[in-house]
Amino acid sequence: MSKQFDVVVIGGGPGGYIAAIRAAQLGFQVACIDEWKNDKGGPAPGGTCTNVGCIPSKALLQSSEHFEQAAHHFGDHGITLDNLKMDVAKMVGRKNTVVKQNNDGILYLFKKNKVSFFHGRGSFAKAVEGGYEIAVAGAANETLTAKNVIVATGSNARALPGAPFDEEKILSNDGALRIGAVPAKLGVIGSGVIGLEMGSVWRRLGSEVTILEAMPSFLAAADEGVAKEALKAFQKQGLKFEFGAKISKVDASGEGVVISYANAKGEEQTLAVDKLIVSIGRVANTIGLNPEAVGLQLDERGMIVVDADCKTNLPGVWAVGDVVRGPMLAHKAEEEGVAVAERIAGQHGHVNFATIPWVIYTSPEIAWVGRTEQQLKADGVAYKAGQFPFMANGRARALGDTTGFVKFLADAKTDEILGVHIVGPFASELISEAVVAMEFKASAEDIARICHAHPSLSEATKEAALAVDKRTLNF
Ligand SMILES: Cc1cc2nc3c(=O)[nH]c(=O)nc-3n(C[C@H](O)[C@H](O)[C@H](O)COP(=O)(O)OP(=O)(O)OC[C@H]3O[C@@H](n4cnc5c(N)ncnc54)[C@H](O)[C@@H]3O)c2cc1C
Repeated sequence: MSKQFDVVVIGGGPGGYIAAIRAAQLGFQVACIDEWKNDKGGPAPGGTCTNVGCIPSKALLQSSEHFEQAAHHFGDHGITLDNLKMDVAKMVGRKNTVVKQNNDGILYLFKKNKVSFFHGRGSFAKAVEGGYEIAVAGAANETLTAKNVIVATGSNARALPGAPFDEEKILSNDGALRIGAVPAKLGVIGSGVIGLEMGSVWRRLGSEVTILEAMPSFLAAADEGVAKEALKAFQKQGLKFEFGAKISKVDASGEGVVISYANAKGEEQTLAVDKLIVSIGRVANTIGLNPEAVGLQLDERGMIVVDADCKTNLPGVWAVGDVVRGPMLAHKAEEEGVAVAERIAGQHGHVNFATIPWVIYTSPEIAWVGRTEQQLKADGVAYKAGQFPFMANGRARALGDTTGFVKFLADAKTDEILGVHIVGPFASELISEAVVAMEFKASAEDIARICHAHPSLSEATKEAALAVDKRTLNF
């Protein structure tokens, strides 16, 4: 017997579980199906983000940053330690606890909001009168029927051709978050967010880390000034980079992994490492979804085709998050999930793609919102720039972390903020002020005239806004 719902959500990552909660808040009978299993085979909702993405990576970044501080910076504060040691198993255990707290939190939220949770794989069975039949294969086999279906099945790591992930020596993000002992030599292919974050964790713990990047330049999506400053800091810390590297072979048949590649000058090189993290992007996941059963349209890259409102080609079927176009970010998935639930309820859900913040949780942190200086030039927009270094900020000096700066880009005529780019301490937190400002179409002067607490890193934001008008007070 089929169970009837108003909304069935397939996938319980940030896109899916948030959509399910919002739909339930709006008064719908909602089911959410998620197949992720914890190490005991039980449910582990939260998707990539909670299990092998945002949350566990930040847990390991925090642990390894503590170690780095204790090893290299506590001395500046007069604190000395003998026999500093890193217990990797304990660090990974703590990370697993943090993940489980998040899994359990989502199950609690489902109960609180009366979302029916089904642990298993959801797939389209057929279109029926006024909706769709979804088969659940898992702990129990069920059939659900709903007028509205939200697909939020996320993404998987892209493997290098000819070098499948074995999660022992050739690692995706999953294996990279489960390394049991510090590898003496670690290779990373891809210098994007995941490669930089994972490379930083293991470099801090003692690995010699080499990052091979196919592109000729570093962090092409970031503002050039920010990318330059960050690269300088990472190289100073000991991360090695090779840009313009064209990989020809990855050989894991021996004890470690040997990567053959041509460098930017076209010279053949080899790199021998104990483990290799491959972080060259992610592919949309529709494995097991059975889109053919109902004629759900995918594009040539396997993404579900949606319009600006996340509507698919089928009436009542929506798709959100990593499985559709747009940035693969948890907060983008969440915003789309909320907007779709509201649209189903006849409301006007909205996602502003122009104000989605980007964050890289390395040290220094990197965060930005809006357009970069190179984009503004390419778009032919007349702009003013203002920049303020953390070196001139009292709180940053007290923290002992003065790397980087805040940079404002504002329209030359109207002074409207067009982009804010931060490299430095707590950039991930500071960027929120810029997002709010841009959502409210603020000018640089608006921020410059607002009282910011002293001493705080946010004063660097105010000063960068003042710098647009060439009137910084502390620099
Ligand atoms: C190492 C790493 C670090 C990251 N760090 C950040 C960060 O700091 N900030 C950020 O914003 N983003 C980060 N991301 C990206 C972020 O994790 C994704 O953008 C986000 O998880 C996408 O959410 P989603 O709901 O679309 O998909 P997912 O989180 O991938 O969730 C999809 C869920 O659907 C389930 N599923 C799939 N198919 C089916 C099916 N047929 N039936 C039932 N269940 C199914 C999957 O098991 C999974 O649980 C990171 C990613 C990685 C890999």
